[in-house]
This record gives sequence, structure tokens and C-alpha cells, in this order.
Amino acid sequence: MDTQTLLNYDRDHLWHPYTSMKDPLPVYPVESAAGVRIRLMDGRELIDGMASWWSAIHGYSHPVLVQALQEQAARMSHVMFGGLTHGPAVELAKLLVEMAPAGLEKVFLCDSGSVAVEVAMKMAIQYHHATGNPERCRFLTIRSGYHGDTFHAMSVSDPQGGMHHLFAGSLPQYFFADRPECLFSHVWDEGDIASFARLIEQHHKELCAVILEPIVQGAGGMRFYHPEYLRQVRRLCDNFGVLLIVDEIATGFGRSGTLFGCDHAGITPDIMCLGKAITGGTMTLAAVLATAEVGLGVSQGSPGVFMHGPTFMGNPLACHVACASLRLLLESDWQQQVGRIEQLLEEGLAPCRELAQVQDVRVLGAIGVVEMKEPVRMREIQAAFVERGVWVRPFGRLVYVMPPYCIAEEDLQTLTSAIVKVVAGEGQ
Ligand code: PMP
Repeated sequence: MDTQTLLNYDRDHLWHPYTSMKDPLPVYPVESAAGVRIRLMDGRELIDGMASWWSAIHGYSHPVLVQALQEQAARMSHVMFGGLTHGPAVELAKLLVEMAPAGLEKVFLCDSGSVAVEVAMKMAIQYHHATGNPERCRFLTIRSGYHGDTFHAMSVSDPQGGMHHLFAGSLPQYFFADRPECLFSHVWDEGDIASFARLIEQHHKELCAVILEPIVQGAGGMRFYHPEYLRQVRRLCDNFGVLLIVDEIATGFGRSGTLFGCDHAGITPDIMCLGKAITGGTMTLAAVLATAEVGLGVSQGSPGVFMHGPTFMGNPLACHVACASLRLLLESDWQQQVGRIEQLLEEGLAPCRELAQVQDVRVLGAIGVVEMKEPVRMREIQAAFVERGVWVRPFGRLVYVMPPYCIAEEDLQTLTSAIVKVVAGEGQ
């Protein structure tokens, strides 16, 4: 199929994320991707600033991951996980338990981030059901959060920025505390936790769990909040017997400068969701880790089993690639790489602070955000980035990057100077 025929068919038949079937924005046809370069079908190469939405931390087509994929495909791509087990799943569980905050020991392997959120929420409900508190079946979260596109994940994502109004009739109604206003680098303000503290105090008898993204609120606004907020949430959950679910799907595996977002606060959640970077962006896989108390609690009484078991649970191909990706990460000097990216993003994006159309510039670990005053013009801004040889995919008022950790200094400079120039041209 030639490129134009492909694009025409795509336009007529394929849904892309959050896209119209009637009037879709242009898409750019990709021929291949290697390292931090995405190669378009017309031969142009783009420096990747997105790591395919937080996932491709080692860059694309990494030879170690390609080899792991080929090895495992030749051995066995998949077998059902009901009644069977295999090396890749067990090895992955062992790696995750060793990496995760101490105390998370029970591993549920599933298909994607949103499914991991569903699994974690079901686990919390079943835990309280099995331990004699079936009335505890509601959730508390914070505004400006995002947890995925499935129904329960939507129900705890930001009610304004999310999809609540559209699906109002079908979504369960949960509790939302004010978003944390005290930012990562600010002096801690005790008043910041007041809204959360009031809600948990008022409603704990019907709450099974709190769910939030640790430190970095991703798609709900790309905000970085104070670690003390998370410590206070942990303390309040303990006081009121409410489980804490931490959604590390975006933050997991080094992105914010620590291995997990939780590590900034030194806390262990009761349940942790992982996804995205777990296979280094090779394919979809997610994991839910729980403490022994949650795992054993869920398994008490009736029905005595956790009620979830997807067809592709523990997929050997994904698990084997995940093991290779996590070993690659642990054997690398990722902390230094992320620290270097942080510094270069700080320096490179600093000129945006001077621009009238820019509201704020913030950086944490290998995440750089330029928040605009007005929503960007998607079609124009996307084309302007591609013209400058970089792949940056803004949304709303946010122009943001989270490049693969292996990005070279020169490429990162090209990326940030493209952002400065393109942002400067916005709104003119
Ligand atoms: N939680 C967070 C924090 C996320 O950033 C995302 C994905 N953007 C999800 C959950 C959902 O993951 P997935 O897209 O793999 O379903």
C-alpha cells in the first residue's frame, strides 16, 4: 500500500485516541523507530520527546528487548494462566517484589494500565467485603487526577477535566478532595491536606480505599505535588483503616527521579498499579502489587478467591520482555541519566518562562512541562514540531515531554529549543 492510500484508509476507518471519525486531525505515518528516532514514511526522522506516553524508557527497538521478544516467541508466546504457570511470570513477579517499596509481595499481572486500576479497585472492595466490612465500598481521590478510560478508572479521574459529564448516568459517584496546591519544590503548607482530611474523617465508614497518583499528576494536569501530602495521606489512611492504592502507571520505573513516585515520600501503599514502562514500551502489560495483608484478606471467607482472571493474564511474551527491560534499567545508571535530563530540561525550557503566552514551566526528573495560558492549536503546533524534526504531542494547555532515558544531550537540546521556538509562535 502506498503512503497516500494508507493514510486515506486510516482516515476513513481507524479510530485514533480521542479522535473524531468525521473530522480527524492529520496523523503522521511511521515506517520504523530505533533509539530516540521515529522514522516517517517519507524518510524524515523525528527526535522522540514522548517515549510513547511514558513507556519507551530505553528508546525503540532496543536490541536486548528485541532479542528477548524473539527468544520467548520461539519458546511460547502464550499459555493460559489458569492452572498453569511459567518462568517469565515468576521471574517478573520476583523482580517487581524486589524493586517495589518493602511490603508489596502479592502480584496480579494484567493487560493494561486501566485494567490494573480496575483490578486494584476490585481488590480494595473485596478486601473489606471479606474482612467483615461490606459497607466499605466507595473511593476517595483527589482532583486533577487521571487513572484511565475504563468505567471505574473514569469514576476516580478528575470530574471536570475528565469524562464525568458525558458518562454521568453510568458512573459511580465517589469523593474528590481538593487537588494538592503545595507543589513539589515549595515549603510544605499544613493547610494543603485539610480538604482530604475532612473527607476521609467524614466518610471513612463507607470508604474502602483512597486512590491517587503519587507526586506526579499526569494527564489530569501534569502537576508535581509535595511529598509531605502523600505522607499525610498514608497516615490518615492508616488512622481510618482505609487502604491506599497508588497509581504508579506513569511514574513507575524511574521517571520522576526515584524508582517509584512513592519513594519521594518513603511510603508503602497497600496496593500499587504499574504499567506503561514495564515492558520498556514493547507491548502492553500491567501489574498490581499488594501487601500480604491485602492478598490474604481478600482470600478470607466467601468467595475466598479474587474475582478477576483475564485471558491474557501473565502473557509469557510480555513478561519475558518486561524482565529484560527491568534488568536493563537496574543495570543502567538510570538515576544519573534522569538527573542529567532534569538539568537539561530545566536549562533548555527556561526561556519559555519569559514568554507572555506561557503560564508556567516545571520539571521533575525526566518530565518537562510548559503550561500555556490558552489551549494550543493542535493541528498547527503538531505540524510545527514535525517540521523542526521532533515528536512532541501536546494536549489542552500543556506542551510536555518525557523522553527516553538514553536521549543524547544534543538531541535533548534540539528538542527543548524546538519547544521554545514553537511555543513562542503559538497565539501569534
Ligand atoms: N493511570 C495513569 C496514571 C496513566 O497515566 C494512565 C495512562 N495514561 C493510565 C492509568 C491508563 O493506562 P492505559 O492507557 O494503559 O490503560
